[in-house]
Amino acid sequence: MPNTPTIWWVGRDLRLADNAALAASCAGGGPVIPVFIRDELFDGLGAAPMYRFGRGLDAFDEALHGVGSRLICRSGDALEVLRALVAETGAGAVVWSRRYDPASIARDKRVKAALGEDGVQARSYPGFLLFEPWTVETGQGGPYKVYSPYWRAVSGREVAEGLAAPGRISAPKAWPDSEALADWQLGAAMRRGAGIVAPHLAVGEGAAQDRLARFLDGPIEGYKDRRNFPGEEATSRLSENLTYGEISPAAIWRAGQAAEAHGARGAGHFLKELVWREFAWHLLYHFPDLDRENWKDGWQAFPWRGADDNAELTAWQQGRTGIELVDAGLREMYVTGTMHNRVRMVVASYLTKHLLTDWRDGLAWFADCLVDWDPASNAMGWQWVAGCGPDAAPYFRIFNPDTQAEKFDPDGTYRARWLAEGREAPSDTALSYFDAVPKGWGLSPDDPRPEPAPLKVGRERALAAYEQREG
Ligand code: FAD
Repeated sequence: MPNTPTIWWVGRDLRLADNAALAASCAGGGPVIPVFIRDELFDGLGAAPMYRFGRGLDAFDEALHGVGSRLICRSGDALEVLRALVAETGAGAVVWSRRYDPASIARDKRVKAALGEDGVQARSYPGFLLFEPWTVETGQGGPYKVYSPYWRAVSGREVAEGLAAPGRISAPKAWPDSEALADWQLGAAMRRGAGIVAPHLAVGEGAAQDRLARFLDGPIEGYKDRRNFPGEEATSRLSENLTYGEISPAAIWRAGQAAEAHGARGAGHFLKELVWREFAWHLLYHFPDLDRENWKDGWQAFPWRGADDNAELTAWQQGRTGIELVDAGLREMYVTGTMHNRVRMVVASYLTKHLLTDWRDGLAWFADCLVDWDPASNAMGWQWVAGCGPDAAPYFRIFNPDTQAEKFDPDGTYRARWLAEGREAPSDTALSYFDAVPKGWGLSPDDPRPEPAPLKVGRERALAAYEQREG
């Protein structure tokens, strides 16, 4: 039907460039109505991801205005909202970027089938990932469970050419009503106050492209050697933008490949890291319980402690374990909404091994605090560290967080950035933690340094529990 409007159901694809769903919306030449739906899946987000999503939507609405369009915001059941919009606008098609988590897949299937029955074209497009999870199979058929062969299987593949951002998006004669994004109060659950986190964000497509350019301009060269040092600006920080689709992984992949062709030393390693994200989504797609169930068989009876009466979990969440690198990481996350990858591994290892606490409690805390929260990478990361996940670290690999600090933060730059107690002149960032935390936590930079539990005791307890399980 030429010139009937197309509804572009916007999700984690908040970009104009390299967006197949948007390109398809524009291809017919009719008006395009970009719509974001706040449904129950969205309402299930943690505080920081919800706040950050809202900031992304705001920036995206502005970007759409720049090309003659706007974002319509509606709340309710996705199918009901879309049906209502089709009725209001006479749209002949609904398109969106494909999503791969189990709840979204179930919802999108239902929507596609129902719209089809209504006689409305419903089509989904790739773009959130480099490789569709069902297209990567082992020689025997079936999904990969180990990263290295997965990498070998995908690394030689072609990635689609980039799609230019449209200069203009055709508008309908009359715009349907929209709820006001500001009324959604998406930062309301941020107990730390959104204002604390805001200066650390880089929101929107332009900011994502700037981040990529900055990374390619310098840090990529030393990426392989320096990426593990949390005190340095040695990584891209693009996870925040990837998770809302403010940049496509394909654009990053192409840029990384071009850098490699031009001899950038760290480019190959950077591409491998980007593929860890793909691998995580490959796993979540094929093993939809990845964020809930121990992935390896035989772990159901593992004696992890739960959240009830677990004062050590509370101290961990509050960055008050007394272990410097662990506390620094948890404070970095509370203030900025992100945490360096090396430190994520260390804090997760400390919680699951030294404190023998269930990885799902750590996963839930990250899901509430991270602005780059990604259900697949988070689940894979936690299960990998805990030892029960695909391709996991062997159970006896128990990071000593103090040794990790000596190795990866040798001059203490990172710890000085985030720790205040017992220091003569704490840094502004370290002090900002105390502005961020809820008053109810009762913390002050003048408190004495928390006393750490002996690492040796935790390590031995963990080894005993793990060995018993292995036997
Ligand atoms: P760079 O080093 O610049 O890497 C480029 C990109 O590659 C990243 O943006 C990311 O998309 C991908 N990548 C790099 N390392 C990994 C990895 N180990 N796993 C998956 N993808 C990777 N990442 C998230 O995006 N969201 C999460 O919720 C998340 N939770 C994690 C939880 C735990 C316990 C652990 C150990 C890791 C988790 N990660 C998560 C992975 C990793 O820590 C972040 O992707 C990384 O810190 C992002 O920083 P960057 O963008 O500077 O990465």
